[in-house]
Amino acid sequence: MNLKERVLITFAGVVPDVDGLGIIPELLTRKSAHPLAWFSLYHHQLHNLAFALLVAGASFFLAKNRWLTGSLAFLSFHLHLLEDLLGSRGPEGYQWPIPYLSPFSHAAQLTWSGQWALNAWPNYLITFCLLAITFYLAWSKGRSPIEMVSERADGAFVAALRRRFPL
Ligand SMILES: [Zn+2]
Repeated sequence: MNLKERVLITFAGVVPDVDGLGIIPELLTRKSAHPLAWFSLYHHQLHNLAFALLVAGASFFLAKNRWLTGSLAFLSFHLHLLEDLLGSRGPEGYQWPIPYLSPFSHAAQLTWSGQWALNAWPNYLITFCLLAITFYLAWSKGRSPIEMVSERADGAFVAALRRRFPL
């Protein structure tokens, strides 16, 4: 699996939240005469199966290891949906249901009654564990997510880790 394929899979895991970019115009216009409720209206509208298939399909065609990359992109997208379902309750208690079959059907509005808040302790614990795994993989495999920004910076990061904790 090459760098481009790793980028595609990572991208698939964050791209559902482009539907949350409406937060910027919403915040900027909330005190204006014509507020734009683009975040409130559209956040989670791309959290659906159709968009997952589109993203996985695009990853499939852009990759060399097509089936592996396409499948992992599909999985990564769904991991995002699962994480949203588990722990992304808003400060006002709103659950942000996931319209999984949108835009074809509004029947499936996925929520989980045990959902914890976005800033609740399980999310801190998960973040800590994932960071620890990321550091371990950088140390043992010799690469980290920094490679997506700069392979040189990634090399420096891995070298610093290995100097601190000799192999
Ligand atoms: Zn999301």
